[in-house]
Amino acid sequence: MTRPRIVLLPGDGIGPEVTDSARQVLEAVTRVSDLELDLVEAAIGGHAIDTMGEPLPAAVLALCETSDAMLLGAVGGPQWSALPATDRPEAGLLRLRKHFELFANLRPVTVQPELATAAPLKPELLRNVDLLFVRELTGGLYFGPRREQGDGEDAFDTMVYSVAEVERVAHVAFRAARRRSRKVTSVDKANVLASMRLWRRTVERVAAQYPDVTLDHLLVDNCAMQLIRQPAAFDVLLTPNLFGDVLSDEASVLAGSLGSLPSASLGDGPRGLYEPVHGSAPDIAGSGLANPLGAISSAALLLRYSLDREVEARAIEAAVAAVLAAGYRTADLAAADEVAVSTVELTEQIIHHLAEIESPAEAPEPSLVGEAG
Ligand code: NAD
Repeated sequence: MTRPRIVLLPGDGIGPEVTDSARQVLEAVTRVSDLELDLVEAAIGGHAIDTMGEPLPAAVLALCETSDAMLLGAVGGPQWSALPATDRPEAGLLRLRKHFELFANLRPVTVQPELATAAPLKPELLRNVDLLFVRELTGGLYFGPRREQGDGEDAFDTMVYSVAEVERVAHVAFRAARRRSRKVTSVDKANVLASMRLWRRTVERVAAQYPDVTLDHLLVDNCAMQLIRQPAAFDVLLTPNLFGDVLSDEASVLAGSLGSLPSASLGDGPRGLYEPVHGSAPDIAGSGLANPLGAISSAALLLRYSLDREVEARAIEAAVAAVLAAGYRTADLAAADEVAVSTVELTEQIIHHLAEIESPAEAPEPSLVGEAG
């Protein structure tokens, strides 16, 4: 049996701390299952700038080419913020996503019942919240033509979408909906923007291939409101790049902390890039305060989507839920009267619960990548 290769890209700030947690959990999974993994580590972001001169060195990219999946911590920090945009740590991450054409970013947002009080919304609004953002990641406003002049009087960015770009991400959303509650909400600004009218028309055409999935459309401003008013009404949210960036951060407060949320970036094949939703949190780096759940849950998504290991993915997710139910929390999740544990302690608890979990009996669900329809 060949061992799937996972390239770990810890990056900056709390990135190395939470990536180490995810690595330990993956290693623990290999001890309680027949899964074998080849885990290798490489530099990215500010760490790569400091040690190798650029945020995504060619040697690191070449290593990623040999991988089955990549697990990233976070990049960026104040020490690199004076660099031009194209040389900053974040440019390395954007280049990595573009290089592998990882056009679909999946961000699940679920609310653990025990954490409903950690969110600023009323607990009754958070009952049964289980969302999946499918955000277009390699097109739209972040990649369109732009002009920026250091001391100029104006600047512009451009939102461009082609039919093919919208179609491929829409297929991912509809396939994901088939594994869930069969409902897609497509978010746009079709009342104002031409690119968004093309988005809506294209999503409607794709939807015709999935008659078992319900489609509705929401304007982005209304969606921002409804996510707070009735978050449990949503299932899959399909969004352009910019809107998904903003709305998924808004939705992250439903889960109590940005630190708990995972993401997967997928392209046409099984190779994906997995990373927690949060950034490098320089304010808490090195203090043991980082919540590792986003990184650990990203490792679960990696097993699910890139390695087709649904049973092991669920085992990690069940261990996370069990540890939260047992009352363990990092400081970002702990209520005023609760004692917080460190990054390392929470990770140890998850590994402990993982060892006790039996494999679920259900058959794995079909893969998300692949042909349409
Ligand atoms: P951030 O997500 O790093 O931090 C926002 C707040 O959330 C901070 O108070 C931080 O302490 C807290 N936080 C974040 N993750 C946490 C965790 N796991 N546990 C506990 N608390 C956590 O966002 P920011 O401060 O806007 O950005 C800091 C740096 O990260 C910037 O350089 C930014 O460019 C970069 N960034 C990187 C990514 C990425 O690598 N994908 C994403 C967002 C921001």
